Amino acid sequence: MSSLAGKVALISGSSAGLGAAIAQELFARGASVVINYPFPSEKANANKLLERLGDSKRAIAVEADLSTRDGPQALVDEAVKVFSKIDILVNSAGINRPIFLDDPNDSTVEKTWHDIVNLNGRGVFFLTRAVLKHLSRENSRIINIGSSASRTPSPQSSIYAGTKSMVEVYTQCWATELPRKYGCTVNAVAPGPVATDAFLAAPSFVREALQPLIDATPVAPRLGRPEEIAWTVATLAEERAGWINGAFIPVNGGSAIF
Ligand code: NAD
Repeated sequence: MSSLAGKVALISGSSAGLGAAIAQELFARGASVVINYPFPSEKANANKLLERLGDSKRAIAVEADLSTRDGPQALVDEAVKVFSKIDILVNSAGINRPIFLDDPNDSTVEKTWHDIVNLNGRGVFFLTRAVLKHLSRENSRIINIGSSASRTPSPQSSIYAGTKSMVEVYTQCWATELPRKYGCTVNAVAPGPVATDAFLAAPSFVREALQPLIDATPVAPRLGRPEEIAWTVATLAEERAGWINGAFIPVNGGSAIF
């Protein structure tokens, strides 16, 4: 399939997890992809993905920590240096660290707030802002990875779910603000629990708390698969999806129906 041939896709946080699956699906549909990883310790994962893709002309990996002040611009500068433009931005980089509001350790709470908000909230905003200057003015796409958590929050998720609400509302604002000016659509894809390495490595209480929800999922009692989220994102990236704008698309087997 080469329905996205000639397109350039930048996928934040794509050395692992959903971002990596999304990069693979967009690449398989013909797009050139900019893979992003945050730290030197993630470089090996990014390189493994590059090897799997196996076409050095259509894929690069760029180190940029998107929670920092300069990370978003540095990522965009490198992407544009190599590919000259961006057609598809997927804001996938995000972290989750469960914590109670009344956790007694002030410094842990402050660090958790700082880390999650700076990546999931600030990073998405400033990466999108940096991309706009280079976004193709026709049939371009901004696709934000939200989460069911913004609509069905659970204990210990106030910071994470709060940032995913930000992502949801950014999507709605940008879907009204950007399309005529930038030729884009803006949508959010909101997974339920997905079997990424990060999810499977989460503390057991996280999985245990979600187990009843997983067991009761109408389509099947299982976690989502990264490729199911990737398919949805890539389908939104297709030119034929150009009339979908401002949507919040749950991909969760019906575990939460909004
Ligand atoms: P993951 O931890 O498996 O992958 C996250 C990726 O982001 C990795 O490549 C990591 O290197 C990168 N990253 C981490 N910090 C970064 C930073 N500061 N700058 C740039 N990149 C950074 O996570 P995942 O489960 O694949 O989650 C991806 C997105 O999907 C997140 O936004 C997450 O909130 C969302 N999501 C995940 C699930 C799930 O169950 N896995 C459910 C709903 C939503």
